[in-house]
Amino acid sequence: MKLVLLGPPGAGKGTQAKRLEETRGLKQLSTGDMLRAAVAAGTPLGLQAKQVMESGQLVRDDLIVAMIAERIGEPDCAKGFILDGFPRTVQQAEALDAMLVAKGLGGIDRVIELAVDEPALIERIAGRYSCAKCGAGYHDKFKQPKTNGVCDRCGAKEFVRRPDDRPEAVATRLAAYRQQTAPILPYYRARGLLTTVDGMADPEEVARQIDRALGS
Ligand code: AMP
Repeated sequence: MKLVLLGPPGAGKGTQAKRLEETRGLKQLSTGDMLRAAVAAGTPLGLQAKQVMESGQLVRDDLIVAMIAERIGEPDCAKGFILDGFPRTVQQAEALDAMLVAKGLGGIDRVIELAVDEPALIERIAGRYSCAKCGAGYHDKFKQPKTNGVCDRCGAKEFVRRPDDRPEAVATRLAAYRQQTAPILPYYRARGLLTTVDGMADPEEVARQIDRALGS
C-alpha cells in the first residue's frame, strides 16, 4: 500500500506514520527526518537545506523530489510506504505521480488528511521535544517522561528541541502549509483518493479513523 499523510506541522503525522509502520509493515518516509539527517551529516543537500528549514520555509521541489525518487526504490519500501511530509506542493504531487508510473509502481492508494485547528497546533508544537539519543517524542504538557529527565524508551538524559519549533518559524511553517500545501487537497479529492480525519481527537481515536479509511 502506498499512502500519503497530509496535515500541517504538529498535526500528528509522524505519530500515526510510526504506528502504521508497526501495524501494517509499511515504511515511514519522512522528508523532514531525511533532511534533518542530511543536515546532521553535513551532506551537500544538508548544507543547502539547513537555513531554509530553520526559517520554516520549504526546501526546493527538485531537491526533495530527487531525494524521494531515490528512497522509494530501496528494498525496504517494496511492501509499501507512508509518505509523511511529502508531497508539500502541487508540483511535488505531480512529480510523485510521474515517478510512481515511471517505476512501474502504479499510483498512490490513499491520502489521509489530518484536519486540525491552528491555536491548538501552536500549543502542541511549542511544547514538544525528543530524546537526543533514540528520538522518542515528548511534550511539556501532554507527555512527560515517566521519570523526570529520563527517556522512557532508552534511559538517556539528554533531550532536544527542533530549531524550527521556535514561534517565528512555526508561523512561517503554518503559512507555508496554508499557501503551498493545502492546494494539494483538491488535487487528491478530484482523484477520489482523499479521506479527512479529525486530527484534534486523541491519537487512539485518530488511529481508529485512519484504520477505518484504509480497511483491514
Ligand atoms: P517536517 O519535519 O515535515 O515538519 O519538515 C521540516 C522542514 O523540512 C520543513 O519546514 C521544510 O523546510 C523541510 N521539508 C520537509 N519536507 C519537505 C517537502 N516535502 N518539501 C519542501 N520542504 C520540506
